[in-house]
Amino acid sequence: MTIKISKKIKGYSVEKPSDKAAQVTTTLAPVVVAPEAPTALVIQMHEKVERPDTLIGATYKIKSPLFEHALYVTINDIVLNQGTAHELRRPFEIFINSKNMDHFQWIVALTRIMSAVFRKGGDVTFLVEELKAVFDPRGGYFKAGGVYMPSIVAELGAVIEQHLKMIGMIHDPDLSPEQRALIAEKRAAYEQGTKKKPDLSDARETSSPGDVAAATSAREPAGSSAFPPGATLCQKCNTVASILMDGCATCLNCGYSKCG
Ligand SMILES: [Zn+2]
Repeated sequence: MTIKISKKIKGYSVEKPSDKAAQVTTTLAPVVVAPEAPTALVIQMHEKVERPDTLIGATYKIKSPLFEHALYVTINDIVLNQGTAHELRRPFEIFINSKNMDHFQWIVALTRIMSAVFRKGGDVTFLVEELKAVFDPRGGYFKAGGVYMPSIVAELGAVIEQHLKMIGMIHDPDLSPEQRALIAEKRAAYEQGTKKKPDLSDARETSSPGDVAAATSAREPAGSSAFPPGATLCQKCNTVASILMDGCATCLNCGYSKCG
């Protein structure tokens, strides 16, 4: 590369690789710095955020057939950037209380670790998936609504999920209007189909809808009457909402289908 020098040379220096690098940074700098500038004032959750004297929170009760006494799960949140457009509510600490002392050790260990993870900040929602994936080798249980809990730890995960949804850290995966329409359509078709079958409508034809509901709730796990009787457990959303239609299992809760 040649450069024509039209002025008198007054001095010179040899270009070093570091100069070149600096030049690149200065030319790129405005692009990199610009988006950072507005967020610089926003406080994100990190380990050095000091605990205010008062925190807001919520307490959730877990009643499981696996535990003699109820568990009370308290999650306290810190409000960052209060009163600004960047106001954030982030979990800060978790406590679990129970009369049952059998599980005291691991409960204390788990809550301490979870509180530490909360205070580190960042995306703490992974805790939900980790806990919900834990299963009890002795077997899980059904909660009201027909949701299967594979363990008490999984239910802790569900409680944290509920809390993170409340404070806006987790959003429900929105079903598209088309998916909703499809689920409603399948459900209507299924209910229509079961009415026609004589073997399924034996006693129900003569009884009132109230009797059907009563009979259903007695046989199925509590609350599952929101979905048609005969629905089975969906592997994806752990809800008793999967029905068999045209030889294909379809979930009326999340839309999951084995046949795509
Ligand atoms: Zn499902």
